[in-house]
Amino acid sequence: MTDFQTPYYRFSDYLKETFGEKVYRVPVDAGFSCPNRDGTKGIGGCIYCDSRGSAAPFVRRDRSVREQIEEGMRRVLKRYKTRKFIVYFQAFSNTYESPDVLEKIYSQVLGFGGMVGVAIATRPDCVDPLKLDVIQKVFEGMHVWMEYGLQSAHESSLAWMQRGHSVDAFKRAVAMTRAYPFRICAHIIFGLPGETPEMMLETVRFLARMGIDDLKIHMLHVLKGTRLARVYEQAPFKLLPMEEYISLICDALEILPPSVVIQRLTGDAPSENLVAPKWILKKQETLSEIREELIRRGTHQGAAWQRVPTTFQTEENKTWRVREEKHEL
Ligand code: SF4
Repeated sequence: MTDFQTPYYRFSDYLKETFGEKVYRVPVDAGFSCPNRDGTKGIGGCIYCDSRGSAAPFVRRDRSVREQIEEGMRRVLKRYKTRKFIVYFQAFSNTYESPDVLEKIYSQVLGFGGMVGVAIATRPDCVDPLKLDVIQKVFEGMHVWMEYGLQSAHESSLAWMQRGHSVDAFKRAVAMTRAYPFRICAHIIFGLPGETPEMMLETVRFLARMGIDDLKIHMLHVLKGTRLARVYEQAPFKLLPMEEYISLICDALEILPPSVVIQRLTGDAPSENLVAPKWILKKQETLSEIREELIRRGTHQGAAWQRVPTTFQTEENKTWRVREEKHEL
């Protein structure tokens, strides 16, 4: 948990507490598409999305999920001594198929020794109870993370990004998922043009009230070949400098409940594909500066979340408090 050596609740700490040892993710590209690319919701995809749909650079879409897992486990084992893994369905929208097809795809994860969990990244408008039933059935006995891309709690920003879904879609996905024994992870982006620091922190407060379990934050960055790259080239807009981003991340950590597991605080981008800002390539330096800044402030994750006014305690908020107590037991 949070302390002054580790002033926020790192994913690696959560995994160690839960599984008793280090656990590594194996990302796969299961060949899914996305309704924001195939014409159902849009054609060009979200403004920042490249043709690989957030896939890790080394995954091979032309291989089966089983082959990718085998390769991924070998890759991890070359570098680390570990016995436990999580499969990460990362690329595109990993629930964007019928329940029958999903069952076939997901079932390829079964039968690997040491596979303790599965993380499924998707859009909030791509889930329903039938799909969640399949996930529960296939991954029974495993840890499941449903990862929903919200990116911002502001409709104006969702429209700018051409996400093709609303904030309400995210609320519905979270409410639906609460009926299952899954953890809910939200993805958000800081530094969207038109968003003030206060707007970014409002997104974080919104997620705290929604009672999410895990959070991934990254800085808006421009990748080659995206529509965002064309926009940026024609009319460059301000991208947050590293210092501003670090300060905002620390503000965000302070207002998050201490039980929220922080899965990511910086983005990953292959240097050859990155247009700007180049500082996001300094991942370790950024993480270390965030830690240093929290220590300089004498603060930590959750330091301010108790200051949520009591008038703010809606039904959602009560749920969150109960969950908070449960976690600390
Ligand atoms: S929802 Fe995800 S995969 Fe689809 S276009 Fe947006 S970022 Fe890309």
